[in-house]
Amino acid sequence: MTDVAVIGAGISGAASAYEMAKAGLDVIVIDRFGPAAMASGWTLAGVRQSGRHPAELPLARKAVEIWATLSEELGGETHYRRGGNLRLARTPEEVPVIEALVKEQRAAGLDLTLLRGNADVRAVAPSLSERVLAASH
Ligand SMILES: Cc1cc2nc3c(=O)[nH]c(=O)nc-3n(C[C@H](O)[C@H](O)[C@H](O)COP(=O)(O)OP(=O)(O)OC[C@H]3O[C@@H](n4cnc5c(N)ncnc54)[C@H](O)[C@@H]3O)c2cc1C
Repeated sequence: MTDVAVIGAGISGAASAYEMAKAGLDVIVIDRFGPAAMASGWTLAGVRQSGRHPAELPLARKAVEIWATLSEELGGETHYRRGGNLRLARTPEEVPVIEALVKEQRAAGLDLTLLRGNADVRAVAPSLSERVLAASH
């Protein structure tokens, strides 16, 4: 006897179904096309904390924690790698925006660094343009 029917096998439905099954419920997942057929199959696969609204941060932090060991937990390779996230200032006007972002996000508890100048940014991501002026990392 099924306890819960989840409609949609994207990340939201699949993750919810997985957690409910772990909690002991009998769950069925139904999708009109198949797993990850819509947005979840098109994602660029970033797991980002920086630049989030403060209300979203606890969820983003939990996601980073979960992804770190998800391959072992699921018994399947997720290819998740934690390499950091860069937000770029490409014009002089964008530099103070990035500086403010770093300040705000650090105050919210994130370990963000301000990379000042093209050399510092390209030390992290060498293939970036020489025109990038600063970045949050
Ligand atoms: C190009 C792109 C890049 C993105 N990059 C990122 C990223 O780097 N990082 C990130 O965190 N997010 C990213 N996102 C956002 C992320 O992909 C979505 O927020 C997430 O996948 C949404 O998941 P979902 O399960 O809510 O929806 P979906 O993945 O859209 O799943 C919904 C499922 O429900 C099914 N369905 C709908 N209606 C019915 C019905 N009536 N009956 C049966 N089945 C139905 C659909 O077929 C679908 O499979 C990106 C999105 C796009 C489009």
